[in-house]
Amino acid sequence: MTELVGGPSLPQERKLVTSIPGPKSQEMMARKNAAVAAGVGVALPVSIVAAGGGVMVDADGNSLIDLGSGIAVTGVGNSAPAVVEAVINQVQAFTHTCFTVTPYDGYVKVAEKLNELTPGDHEKRSALFNSGAEAVENAIKIARHFTKKNGVVVFDHAYHGRTNLTMGMTAKNIPYKDGFGPFAPEVYRVPTSYPFRDGLSGAEAAKVALTQIEKQVGAGNLAAIIIEPIQGEGGFIAPAEGFLPALQAWATENNVVFILDEVQTGFARTGDLFAANHEGVVPDMVTTAKGIAGGLPLSAVTGRAEIMDSAHAGGLGGTYAGSPIACAAALATIDTYEKENLTERAREIGAIIDEFFGEIAKNDDRIGEIRGRGALKAIEFVESGSKNPNAALTGAIAKQAGEQGVIVLTCGTYGNVVRFLPPLSISDELLREGLQVVADALAAN
Ligand SMILES: *Cc1c(COP(=O)(O)O)cnc(C)c1O
Repeated sequence: MTELVGGPSLPQERKLVTSIPGPKSQEMMARKNAAVAAGVGVALPVSIVAAGGGVMVDADGNSLIDLGSGIAVTGVGNSAPAVVEAVINQVQAFTHTCFTVTPYDGYVKVAEKLNELTPGDHEKRSALFNSGAEAVENAIKIARHFTKKNGVVVFDHAYHGRTNLTMGMTAKNIPYKDGFGPFAPEVYRVPTSYPFRDGLSGAEAAKVALTQIEKQVGAGNLAAIIIEPIQGEGGFIAPAEGFLPALQAWATENNVVFILDEVQTGFARTGDLFAANHEGVVPDMVTTAKGIAGGLPLSAVTGRAEIMDSAHAGGLGGTYAGSPIACAAALATIDTYEKENLTERAREIGAIIDEFFGEIAKNDDRIGEIRGRGALKAIEFVESGSKNPNAALTGAIAKQAGEQGVIVLTCGTYGNVVRFLPPLSISDELLREGLQVVADALAAN
């Protein structure tokens, strides 16, 4: 067996030794197409064998710049040394017990950390799960149990997952929902705040949303309002200032649980440990996942003690929920965010991206808006001289960047947003090289 070592010791360089995808990646993709369900698509058809720092290495020996972190997961870097060590130690001690059969300390420690670090200094409780969608499902379960109401308000452009309930909560039809219904009932969608397109202040946008909630749902039927503090898959849409606080104030007045879905924005990504902190909002509940455990599958619901404790024993859990391996990884990951001051690093990365594309935007009016916070940044592309979404350009940029060895993701309801989610372990030099490849792809189209 060949020893493959990832992590920060991998040479931090973009190096193309074949075209992308190379022959070994193509060979794997042929097997993938024969063995894996077609619905499981891929953004870039390469076969990854190692990753770390700011690079991913494929089976053909190409070294690619990673500007996606596996969708905002490997914030501390892929195979981060502290995570690797914690996982090895845990695997050697025990791999599984099922926390709800025989509990263990790592789970409790993660809950203690989340209770301490998430927004607000009220008394909290946490419950751990495996995926972001599972955390969202459980947050809704708990909010319904606590309020004894059913309705759930979600927003235009929202993304909450791919399970039945969360698919119904997600806004975008293709690819997430088309043909996969029927969806769970009692989910109501209202307009969000999308400053680039609606031109409303936070207070104005909140008035639109809250009026619709009052007229079409009624507070007496509503268990929860759930929103991403910056919408992720929907296009990295940051609401206008004041929008989130207005929703929160209304929810509090009306015995409605206010839930922030920080699955993508959480854990240093936005230049603060949680995006809620930028707005000074304190949610009743917060869902976290992606950046929590350095790449291991873990998610959490953290909320006010009286809400979280309302569900009876046995009502929450799951065979693998809060796996000891994922918990060990999470403790090492959270420690790494703190020790390496990665919130500050996220702000530096954001400033570099702003400056780099800010210059280019002066001479290219297809850049409609550069937005986001910290190392969660995006460019919304439009047709010249308009706000018409330019999905063709966006797709071409991502494709061309991939062929040149830079992994970038797209998003947005209109498919016209390129998003940057680099690992916070990336160097300035590598980041700039990656951005230049994206800029070159823009110039060539
Ligand atoms: C990714 C994501 C989810 C779903 O997480 P999974 O782990 O893919 O189930 C939910 N909410 C938000 C905001 C996300 O970005």
